[in-house]
Amino acid sequence: MNIFKKLTCFMHYKIKWICIVIALALLYISGVIFVVYTYETNMKETERNAISLAETAEAGISKSHLYALSSDNSDLGKPEYIELKSNLINVSKLNNNVRFAYILVQKEGTIYFTADSEPVDSADYSPPGQEFTEADELLYDAFKKSETTLTSPTTDRWGTWISVLVPMRDAQSGKIIAVFGVDYPAENWNHEAVSRTVQTGLVVLCLFVIFIILYFVFRQNKELRGEKAKLLESEIKLKESEALFRTIFDQATVGLALVCDDHFISAYKTYPSVNPQFEKIIGRTRDELTDLNWKDITHPDDLQLDTDKFTKFKAGIISGYSIEKRFIRPDGSAVWVHMSISPLYLGSNADIVHMCVIENICRRKEMEKILYDSERSKSVILSNIPGMAYRCRYDKTWTMEFISEGCYALTGYKPENLLHNKEITFNDLISSDYREYLWDKWTQAVEEKSKLTEEYEIVTASGDIKWVWEQGQGIYDDDGQVVALEGLIVDITDRKNHEIKLKHINYHDHLTNLYNRRYFETIIDRDLSDDPETKKAVLLVNIRKFTLLNITYGYVFCDNLIKELASELTLFTNEQCELFHISIDRFILYICEYEDKNELTDLCRSIIVMLNNLLTPKIVGANIGIVEIGENSLSAESIIKNASFAAESADLNQNFGYGFYNVHMAERVERKNVIKSELADAAFNPESNPLFMLYQPILDLKTNEVSGFEALARFRSEQFGVISPLEFIPIAEETKLIVPLGKQIMKLVCRTAKKFELQYPEPFIMSFNVSAIQLLREDFITDLKEAVKETGTDPGRLIMELTESVFSDNYSEINEIIDRIKELGIKISIDDFGTGYSSLARERELNADYLKIDKHFIDKLMDCAWDEAITGDIISIGHKLGHCVIAEGVEYEEQKEYLIQHNCDQMQGYLYSVPLAEDDALKFLQNKTTETDIIILKGIL
Ligand code: C2E
Ligand code: CA
Ligand code: CA
Repeated sequence: MNIFKKLTCFMHYKIKWICIVIALALLYISGVIFVVYTYETNMKETERNAISLAETAEAGISKSHLYALSSDNSDLGKPEYIELKSNLINVSKLNNNVRFAYILVQKEGTIYFTADSEPVDSADYSPPGQEFTEADELLYDAFKKSETTLTSPTTDRWGTWISVLVPMRDAQSGKIIAVFGVDYPAENWNHEAVSRTVQTGLVVLCLFVIFIILYFVFRQNKELRGEKAKLLESEIKLKESEALFRTIFDQATVGLALVCDDHFISAYKTYPSVNPQFEKIIGRTRDELTDLNWKDITHPDDLQLDTDKFTKFKAGIISGYSIEKRFIRPDGSAVWVHMSISPLYLGSNADIVHMCVIENICRRKEMEKILYDSERSKSVILSNIPGMAYRCRYDKTWTMEFISEGCYALTGYKPENLLHNKEITFNDLISSDYREYLWDKWTQAVEEKSKLTEEYEIVTASGDIKWVWEQGQGIYDDDGQVVALEGLIVDITDRKNHEIKLKHINYHDHLTNLYNRRYFETIIDRDLSDDPETKKAVLLVNIRKFTLLNITYGYVFCDNLIKELASELTLFTNEQCELFHISIDRFILYICEYEDKNELTDLCRSIIVMLNNLLTPKIVGANIGIVEIGENSLSAESIIKNASFAAESADLNQNFGYGFYNVHMAERVERKNVIKSELADAAFNPESNPLFMLYQPILDLKTNEVSGFEALARFRSEQFGVISPLEFIPIAEETKLIVPLGKQIMKLVCRTAKKFELQYPEPFIMSFNVSAIQLLREDFITDLKEAVKETGTDPGRLIMELTESVFSDNYSEINEIIDRIKELGIKISIDDFGTGYSSLARERELNADYLKIDKHFIDKLMDCAWDEAITGDIISIGHKLGHCVIAEGVEYEEQKEYLIQHNCDQMQGYLYSVPLAEDDALKFLQNKTTETDIIILKGIL
């Protein structure tokens, strides 16, 4: 019983007693109160009786007698006195308790006896007129009060009395004339009350005693009932425990049997001696087991051990024993059991029996065998496994507790050198770069109770670096605490090297060995999600017209150019600036943590200085587009697209322009796309005629007459109206649509030339522009011939304009084509002469007929002093090379003056005429154009 229960019991007991004591006390107090009350009631009764007696007696006394008496000796013989006296004697006699009865009068303040109840011969007799000397205050008051007075005990010469004093009044006047007194001896006064109270007390006492007796009887009874209940309870418990015992015995999952010496017994007294589980395990019924010797059904291999132990047990050397043994079942099969033998004490009269408990362990034995087999195969596998299987502690040195044979091949150390950190720890083998990393990964795997799969480097005994793949997991105890780590470590060096190589190929550009677009995308996508806060920008360097460059300069030249550019751009890289080669003609510098736009602008300018040095001599231009990566940059793809927009939108008037991306660029690109698709339509459906030509007259400065025209293409877009060739020709070149479109242009030009020929038989020239992409096509000559043939035009009037850059490198190839063109009778003009200086030196080698000085040199004439201008030198170089020189973009009279002065052959420009529609051009040729026409046409421009 625990303390709490004990305490509750004690409290119960105490409260019970307190209740009993309180009940007894209450009973006692109420008894006492009742007795006191009885006494007081009786006393009041006594008082009432005394008063009533006195007042009755007083009423019986005739007041007239009193008037006849004078309360002195003279009254003695008076009949009134005698009667009065006899009345008083009667009062005294008739009432046992009354000792005296008397009448007193007051005269002049003194109280005198009028008469008393004592016989004359009594010693206590008071004759009439005898002064009552012991009269006290109360008595005097009785003469004044109208009511009867009951005095408290007063003592006089006759004893101690309690007196009833009744005032006697005159019937008429009501005046008190005397006092009638009755004396009761004080000692008898309460006799009656006391005797009645004693009776009551006795009754109360009896009740009290009866209550106590009843309580004890009740208690006794209750205890008896309790004892009976307990008896009943223990009887039930006994039955229950017997039932429980039987249930346990019958339903126990272990086999139980009472064995006497070496044989099983059928039944022990009232209990069965073998339980069903025992029968089931052994495979024999209780009856079959009766008197059967257990040695007969024990497997011969286990008999010796069992017999030895049993002998010791019988001899009292051991108190019991447990063994694992086999019993033979009736069908001859063996059943493995775990058997425990223990002594059984069943009272002094009992036979000497012992308890045999058996448990079927066949399953466990089977498992043990499987385990044994699996352990054996495991050890075979482990010693042959490629790699190192291990079991180690979860500590910083990875203390090895088991290592398979593969350790030597993997690490160059024998397993015993690593086991328990004997010579070297496994941590020492891990490359220092991976130690913390691997620890963190294991910590995470252990926390999450997950598998670990990692690849890292180790340093072998010979100092070689090997890549290994490790897969392992923690082994945990019942509390979830890690007790060891187990796994396998395999050499993956070959695979890893291959993978690294593949990864390198995958992420690098084969030409420049720089990170490629794929890697850029990986980095950007990673940074966008992992580090959106840091300021980032992309600077895209785009080589202009790279396709054209490839065609004109050849792939070797372009590859070298790109390599050179890559190595120059690498000089701009640092921790915050990474370089990517995302496509053949585009590089990206990815800048992180820059200050502001100014920093990016400065970087652009530095790059432009570099580009200027590197590319200008090669007549290559480049654009730089900058994108500041902000909230709207959703992916690497969109960033590249935007940077490309920005690059495309950079200032094309500069060799190297740069621009920051803004949303309007997308509009421009959209416009470009529309034009692209319209150009494609035009290329394959020439019937719609969106392509048309204007003809700008050329003035012969020597004759001051029109010498011919330059045909300039225009494109009529459905969406944007007429578009300048400056916009659509680069798009056509980029998309190679220039080939079919160029073919159309040639036809248009030849047709017009033929028309003019017919209308104007004088000699004139008709020059037209051909893009390098067209020129280098195999079928170009065929197309040209076809156009000439189809229209029947005179090829001698045709001049083909080729931009200077076309000739920059492939002189021999170009010259070959030019020769074939010239064979047709068509002349060649070098357009935009002066913009590509590199070719100047080799100009001689070209078989050109005309040289068109670029507008740039004509414009210069307005900016600088004439003697400083090199325009004149260009004209003379042209002449020296045997070319006819034409000046382009002449807008001012001064420019014309200069050209005349410096012997320029021809000129073209707004000063003379703007490009004209076919009919206008014809009129112009026929000299039918009025001055007004020209002014109007200039105004349109
Ligand atoms: P370009 O061959 O140098 O043509 C001369 C350009 O200068 C023409 O512009 C012409 O309108 C313009 N021009 C002539 N005089 C003046 C002048 O006094 N002031 C100014 N500011 N400009 C003047 P357009 O027609 O816009 O042609 C631009 C370029 O487009 C041409 O430059 C040429 O390279 C190319 N192009 C034009 N038509 C064709 C074509 O049919 N095929 C090819 N492949 N390219 C063409
Ligand atoms: Ca031209
Ligand atoms: Ca030109």
